[in-house]
Amino acid sequence: MSIRLIALCLLVCLAAPACGGGDGLYKKTKVIMGTYVTITVARGGLPEVVVRAAVADAYSEIERIDRLMSTYKPESQLSQINREAGMRPVKADPEVIAVIQDALDVATMTGGAFDPTVGPLVRLWGIGGDKARVPGKDEIDAARRLVGFSHVILDKKAGTVFIENKGMAVDLGGIAKGYASDRAVEILKARGIKGGIVAVAGDLKLFGAGEGGKPWKIGIQHPRKPDALLTELEVNDAATSTSGDYERYFIKDGRRYCHILDPKTGYPASGLMSVTVLARDSYLADSLATGLFVMGPEKANAFARSHPEIEVLMVAGDGSISSTGRFRGVTPGSL
Ligand code: AMP
Ligand code: MG
Repeated sequence: MSIRLIALCLLVCLAAPACGGGDGLYKKTKVIMGTYVTITVARGGLPEVVVRAAVADAYSEIERIDRLMSTYKPESQLSQINREAGMRPVKADPEVIAVIQDALDVATMTGGAFDPTVGPLVRLWGIGGDKARVPGKDEIDAARRLVGFSHVILDKKAGTVFIENKGMAVDLGGIAKGYASDRAVEILKARGIKGGIVAVAGDLKLFGAGEGGKPWKIGIQHPRKPDALLTELEVNDAATSTSGDYERYFIKDGRRYCHILDPKTGYPASGLMSVTVLARDSYLADSLATGLFVMGPEKANAFARSHPEIEVLMVAGDGSISSTGRFRGVTPGSL
């Protein structure tokens, strides 16, 4: 057996502790929502078939949410709602209405830094796709005028969503991954799993305990060194989400343009390298991380300090670190 093959076997065994059987962890990765989704669960003495079925069901749940809320799938409910913008209210699942409501609440809470109606700007910049470019000022201004979360009308009694103006579009890319990991954890729990982590890209929901009843240990990625961690944290039941400028971005004329857009300027947000939010629910950690990233260091700091229910770790554009709660020990020295 060649060295390369041995290395490959080792890697596969590490990535899928199913090799070991018995107790310990079971881990699987799939691509959904255009990103890597990794589910890790503590076997907890359950039969292998039960563990595998639970994880399969959790993946089905994430796929179901993607089919409802993706803006990349023309047949999703969200795409249908967007197509009728400025025309008529569209019937939607109570679940879709509830997630849009959550997104609107976070929009209010963050003073519009998080705004689920950034759709036209997301489409215009195309960041993360192969057509990304710096649009002209006129185009940006035109798209910016189509952003405004007060124009999304939810009628819970009638079960409809109405986007008031033609050309507007709701984009749940800053909240749906978190929501999906919340839901996947509910499925795992309902199937008898006692501890696990659902990671949808940088959105993690953790519950129960890991191997040997120990808390889960998670690493927060360094925004400029892909193989380094800013810090590690031990948690049992929590959600963490990181929004950064280092995953989907392009560089033009020495300037970095990332996928998180400032609804006020129409340009990518630029004051921070990364924001990590620890909260109880993943939908909230996800949307607040995106919102705080847009706010920039000063406003995000003030927000974090006045919201003790969340814990925040931020790396500003100049590399300086600010933190609250359990992140307080992380110092600029770690950069
Ligand atoms: P995240 O990676 O969780 O920070 O979410 C970024 C995604 O949310 C983007 O790819 C867009 O789909 C969407 N998005 C970008 N800017 C905003 C914003 N200011 N408010 C809400 N969603 C946004
Ligand atoms: Mg987010």
